[in-house]
Amino acid sequence: ACLNRAKHCPGEAVRIINLPANLETNLTHRYGPNAFKLHGLPTPRPGTVLGLLGINGIGKSTALNVLAGRLKPNLGKLKDPPGWTDIMAYYRGSELQKYFKCLLEDQLGVAHKVQLDTDFVKQLAGKKVGELLRARDQRGAWEHTAKTLDLMHLLDREVQALSGGELQRFAIAATVIREADVYMFDEASSFLDVKQRMTATDVIRSLVNNDGADETGERKEESDEDRRSRARYVIVVEHDLAVLDYMSDYICCLYGEAGAYGVVTKIAGVRNGINNFLAGYIPAENMRFRAEELSFHVSGAEAHDQLASESGMGKAVMGQVSYPGMSKTLEKDGSKFTLHIEPGFFKGAEIIGLLGENGCGKTTFMEMLAGAFDPKDGESSPSADKGNVSEHSLASIGVSYKRQHYAPRLRKFQGTVQELFEKCIQSVCADRLFRLLVLKPLNMEALEKLYVKNLSGGELQRVAITLCLGQPASVYLLDEPSAGLDCEQRIIASKVIRRWVINHMQKTAFVIEHDFVMASALADRVIVYTGQPGVECTANAPKGVVEGFNDFLKMLDVTFRRDPANFRPRVNKKNSTKDREQKAAGQHFVFD
Ligand code: ADP
Ligand code: ADP
Ligand code: MG
Ligand code: MG
Repeated sequence: ACLNRAKHCPGEAVRIINLPANLETNLTHRYGPNAFKLHGLPTPRPGTVLGLLGINGIGKSTALNVLAGRLKPNLGKLKDPPGWTDIMAYYRGSELQKYFKCLLEDQLGVAHKVQLDTDFVKQLAGKKVGELLRARDQRGAWEHTAKTLDLMHLLDREVQALSGGELQRFAIAATVIREADVYMFDEASSFLDVKQRMTATDVIRSLVNNDGADETGERKEESDEDRRSRARYVIVVEHDLAVLDYMSDYICCLYGEAGAYGVVTKIAGVRNGINNFLAGYIPAENMRFRAEELSFHVSGAEAHDQLASESGMGKAVMGQVSYPGMSKTLEKDGSKFTLHIEPGFFKGAEIIGLLGENGCGKTTFMEMLAGAFDPKDGESSPSADKGNVSEHSLASIGVSYKRQHYAPRLRKFQGTVQELFEKCIQSVCADRLFRLLVLKPLNMEALEKLYVKNLSGGELQRVAITLCLGQPASVYLLDEPSAGLDCEQRIIASKVIRRWVINHMQKTAFVIEHDFVMASALADRVIVYTGQPGVECTANAPKGVVEGFNDFLKMLDVTFRRDPANFRPRVNKKNSTKDREQKAAGQHFVFD
């Protein structure tokens, strides 16, 4: 498969980004003398969804706060910050002037779903889901929305008792039920599984309903409600590229240097916007902002050839390991969850993806693989246990495990990242290949001197992935490695995992991943979960990717195609020609 090479036109000067830190043009806001600067602003378009795409720390939330009227832009003037008259004069003649004018005259109501790592929960602590939804409902939509987002069983729950995924769904619901002209969703897919991501996308898209799909084929009378809703602005920040693609009509990219400055590009169509970002090049501005394009598909053979000479002798590939059919029942506070596992096998140099909804037992299966369940421990119900992994061949196999909820444990470490690495993975850190294939691409150098307890979610995730890969093991277990990572880091992390575990170590990895682009880039085979989440589920035997992804997407009633430019998976619009053709042919995911 030909991955798109960066398209340099010979003779044409391509600016490699190396902007001076004192870039002064088009300055929208600066937090302080040596603090972050935002250049430009995205221009939202009425009746459409605008997606913001950029790495962590590049100014996406800052831009939303300015457009929400929460942050008054100072145009870079710290000593003598401009008033609104000056700000309006600055934007004179642009779409943004109209936007700010309406905002200032209180003609634009704003509903803003913030990132969940803010003090969102703290502000609502002690309040219940149901009472909050009823109180915020301005569109008579709370019940319908709560049903769609699967919140009805949580109405009596206090907000601080919600899990990450439940909190996210609540936050989305609490935003869409407001009557507003501008809706903002800052990182709405975090903690959601693939199915919930698709539902959330539909709910958000329904705010602009500009798909023009009329089932009856008749023109609808346009009511006031329709007219108003078409003029809504929706702005989303999203790192899951499949979700961003499906959700947005237009894209603005942000590039620059994380924590130092961010530049907002002009608006582009959704396909070109995302492809430009991946390519690291904005054609309209002739701006290359990343030396390399991001290609998420690592062809095993190609990377292996590249490394064969470096790593010297090929490693002994682990033989096939079989596991028997098993069942496991977990019981807590009277509620019971049963997981059935079909017999299967794995071998060296392959990645097995675990695909399933939240609550269907993916983490439970990993715990079993890790041997964390002692057959004697009181948690398991012996009658349901036909077997336990730790009693079988796996007991003798070394396992390295990055847990889903690794953070609390890791944050207890009272030292720097460097000290943590010295304690846990010292020998491998001296290994030239580990530095080249893992530490460098995950940008660990930048974190070395920082205290572990102060790291952001995405930084800590990269540390946890590094620790997992740094342990010598035959089986690597990675539970949701993309959580907290930005779109760029997700692609890099996928590559790092493949290169280290598959090409270099030639071992097995099991990966749980809800970011579809990442899951499809990682997996060689997949285990698909079926059943009723939280009650009783089955982990099916590992299947090839074509069959496995197909089964999974069939359950979700979704089809994917691939972008011809870079092969990234793209969701087909429901009932589009492609969607119907692929469903008829039983090809929910096209592999080319
Ligand atoms: P993103 O949403 O793209 O991850 P943000 O807009 O949240 O990025 O932040 C961009 C940069 O601005 C970060 O380096 C952040 O630390 C900094 N920043 C955000 N808010 C403030 C603030 N109130 N004061 C100073 N710096 C801030
Ligand atoms: P996933 O990782 O697929 O989201 P998990 O394996 O974490 O799912 O959990 C599967 C189900 O088992 C969930 O409904 C969860 O609430 C339940 N569960 C997890 N641990 C226990 C336990 N110790 N006792 C009872 N139920 C549990
Ligand atoms: Mg942000
Ligand atoms: Mg889990």
